[in-house]
Amino acid sequence: MRNPADLTGREILCECGRTHRVPIREIRRWEGAIPPEAFSGIFSSAAGMSALMICDAHTMDSANGRVAESLRRAGWKLKVREFSRDRLVNDEAAVGAAVLDADTGVGVIIAVGGGTVTDLGRFVASRTCKPFALVMTCPSMDGYASNIAAVSLDGRRRIFKDCRYPDAIFCDMEVMRSAPMELIASGFGDMLGERTSLPDWVMSRHFTGERFCGMLAALMDDSSMECASRLDGIISRDAAATGALTDALLLAGISMGLAGDTRPVSGSEHIFSHFMAERGMEAGTAAPHGATVGFGTLISTLLYEYLLDELRPSDLAPVEAEIRRYLLPSAQIADLLAVSGIGVSAGRYLPGSDVADMIHVCAAPDKRYTVLRYLADAGRIEDGIRHVVDALGRMGESA
Ligand SMILES: [Zn+2]
Ligand SMILES: [Zn+2]
Repeated sequence: MRNPADLTGREILCECGRTHRVPIREIRRWEGAIPPEAFSGIFSSAAGMSALMICDAHTMDSANGRVAESLRRAGWKLKVREFSRDRLVNDEAAVGAAVLDADTGVGVIIAVGGGTVTDLGRFVASRTCKPFALVMTCPSMDGYASNIAAVSLDGRRRIFKDCRYPDAIFCDMEVMRSAPMELIASGFGDMLGERTSLPDWVMSRHFTGERFCGMLAALMDDSSMECASRLDGIISRDAAATGALTDALLLAGISMGLAGDTRPVSGSEHIFSHFMAERGMEAGTAAPHGATVGFGTLISTLLYEYLLDELRPSDLAPVEAEIRRYLLPSAQIADLLAVSGIGVSAGRYLPGSDVADMIHVCAAPDKRYTVLRYLADAGRIEDGIRHVVDALGRMGESA
């Protein structure tokens, strides 16, 4: 697997005909506290100003403390915005408080935490035009190295795709390995999503002429398979395996930036994930993002098995081998989900709904092109749903 640090701060003239670039200047991980020089080196132009550290009281205490200590030793005057709500939501109140903190004396913003806190830091840094570093505390999802932030407005989750990239991403691997297992499993689930996002991208290239990059597809294929082969190490908090998962998630974020789009890492499984996130929010039982992606990957894989093994349409023949190269058998996906703790329970991820409802809604024509749109256009959604529901039943799950 590639080292994410090899892809930062440079331009890649690619075989797909485009020049890919990602503006993150530095990605580094340490076995222990992040040294003060890391911060002073990357932000030397803001020396003498204040650093605003945005964090969550639930982040392991020592994680926040270790970063604060390094920032002070690097010579920054430190302002800390620590959120202590039970479950931080990036709503108007949280964004407003952080923006008010980011006054003219603040030279840099450092967000310490998981997806929610680092999304908040990214959003506030973008709106205040300040340099921004992100300190990951858990390998929970693939958006860290991206320019995308989820913020809730008027009670609805909105995705802002025009935010700034972090100037630097740092991790203390001791902190990463001590993250709650549910969040580590979520990172694994997000990486499993490439097993269907890549076939969906191939389908879209074939049927809609969407731009495709073989280099990025190979990068994500490789990173996702590396995580699948190391799952036992990941769930036992092995150092090398957690490092590989962290690198894979960072590469996934970078690949979105290089593509200028989420396409390499987000297909039908993420359309399903967003549906599950909305149902979970309504019911107050939202599961971690990557868990819903993992379950969505199983549903998408089952739809591909229906398409390739039962429907066998002739217009898919030119790309069938390429699609099959990325797919894993549904039984193997189900095993990986069981081992990771994500599981295959529709009831857990679809409160107040079911798999048939989810597939119907997610096959709507306003969504990006995936296996769902192919089946909808072919008038085969109902047959696909029957296949999925039967398969889940054979796994002992009601759909
Ligand atoms: Zn390319
Ligand atoms: Zn994701």
